[in-house]
Amino acid sequence: RLVTSISSSSQEEILERALRPKQLEEYVGQEKIREQLQIFIEAARNRHEALDHVLLFGPPGLGKTTLAHIIAREMGVNLRQTSGPVLERPGDLAALLTNLEPNDVLFIDEIHRLSPIVEEILYPALEDFQLDIMIGEGPAARSVKLDLPSFTLVGATTRAGMLTNPLRDRFGIVSRLEFYTPEELCKIVIRSAGLLNVEISADGALEMARRSRGTPRIVNRLLRRVRDYAEVRADGHITRSVADAALIMLDIDAIGLDVMDRKLLLAVLEKFCGGPVGVDNLAAAISEERDTIEDVLEPYLIQQGFLKRTSRGRMATTAAYQHFGIAQQNGGLS
Ligand code: ADP
Repeated sequence: RLVTSISSSSQEEILERALRPKQLEEYVGQEKIREQLQIFIEAARNRHEALDHVLLFGPPGLGKTTLAHIIAREMGVNLRQTSGPVLERPGDLAALLTNLEPNDVLFIDEIHRLSPIVEEILYPALEDFQLDIMIGEGPAARSVKLDLPSFTLVGATTRAGMLTNPLRDRFGIVSRLEFYTPEELCKIVIRSAGLLNVEISADGALEMARRSRGTPRIVNRLLRRVRDYAEVRADGHITRSVADAALIMLDIDAIGLDVMDRKLLLAVLEKFCGGPVGVDNLAAAISEERDTIEDVLEPYLIQQGFLKRTSRGRMATTAAYQHFGIAQQNGGLS
């Protein structure tokens, strides 16, 4: 994913945008967040106020950006989008904030990566809609206070634990996105197939849904690859057997684990005798970044019951041994 060329990743973005649901009622799953947002949005709209600040957290591809856009649309306001690492200096944030219209949504992706000096000027902006910045340097420096329009910050992060406490405390609505069930992903892939004019059978859709790591972005991405396969190797129609053959070709196993998932689990099982193993050792063993392991790989493997996080490190479960047909060694003795 990280090595895709610029052109293919921007094409991916275009498609992703096209498949993005635009209204809360089109947004599949995440019932709790949807119900809450529906109520809070309606109440804020009736009072002609900005919605409270919203923090969305969860693994990539579960629909945080989509939800931010939906919030702005349902509130009937503009959305400005940026991300933590892009806002390098206080002035970058100040420029964005002073250009907002009343009740607009400011979406900051990867909000855990804001620099401390930028985070500092965000606090009064969130609390009192005030901007407090220093102009000039040295003895001539003075602090300037500006009133801002009321606005809603929607922050997205892969892990809420990476936010500083003062920042987290300033969000009135904090929601954790969950992995999607196969039935929910099935709805998503059938809708996407309709938008892309791809014929897909119900069991073909379910097969893809079961093998997409509980993640809408993945089921949509797989749809495009499986469509290629169906057009070249079959009659263009995605049936269960076409989906299965295409997914095997894409190296996605029968329960939906991809190459990196299997590499990680096999390292724990074989190189570290089932664990416990610290995440840094694991990262070195599979040549992967620690953050990718923690944000992308691990959450799904833990949710599926193949991996456990313990105080001494990561451990493989009996289900992991069984999946790979490896005999379990008691307590990691070898
Ligand atoms: P995140 O910001 O969490 O990484 P995105 O919001 O970019 O994820 O979602 C990735 C893609 O998955 C979107 O393009 C959208 O088409 C699809 N998607 C995400 N959540 C849903 C959902 N609840 N219903 C339908 N499609 C969704």
